[in-house]
Amino acid sequence: MASIFNLIADNVSHHRSTLRFPEQSKLKVEYRGIVRMDTSKCIGCGICDYVCPSSAISVKRYEDHMDWRYDVSRCTFCGRCARTCPGEALAQDCERPHSYSKPHAEYHEITYPHCTQCGRSMPGFNDQMMMRAFGNVSDKLRERVQVCDRCRLLATQTTAKGKVERQRAAEGKGDEWSGDSSG
Ligand code: SF4
Ligand code: SF4
Repeated sequence: MASIFNLIADNVSHHRSTLRFPEQSKLKVEYRGIVRMDTSKCIGCGICDYVCPSSAISVKRYEDHMDWRYDVSRCTFCGRCARTCPGEALAQDCERPHSYSKPHAEYHEITYPHCTQCGRSMPGFNDQMMMRAFGNVSDKLRERVQVCDRCRLLATQTTAKGKVERQRAAEGKGDEWSGDSSG
């Protein structure tokens, strides 16, 4: 019994812990609120969609652009999307989010850059993506990632064909690529 009185006395002697409305506790600097997107930094990789555990972020790819959708009512504010975004395009508010009981989505359209060879649209690359994918960033690599898959394949085929032709010419054989079977 004595211990209960001690406990009550102890509680009474302390300040109250519960804040009364409209008072609010201070938020930490690293508070994780609503996700915000900076469209100028997004490279359209879709990693945020892949890592989001609650499907709050979803991306739909089209030939020349990507539709990015964020439904805050599904977001658990875990911060995985902002941590993994290679474009540093995502950040979280330092304010308490409102309560959303219904879907409340935000949309952005991200236009893809163009292949420097043929002009076709394709998802972009930046230095961070190159580091993750290839482990290094060089000027040559930067040039290469601005070329689409089709043009890269064509360039590889042309180089391979040139090598074979040179080899056959050195051996005194004909050009089988052009249908000359005299060799
Ligand atoms: S750059 Fe960031 S925001 Fe854009 S699609 Fe990739 S992960 Fe998502
Ligand atoms: S904070 Fe977490 S739940 Fe919310 S969109 Fe990003 S990854 Fe998804």
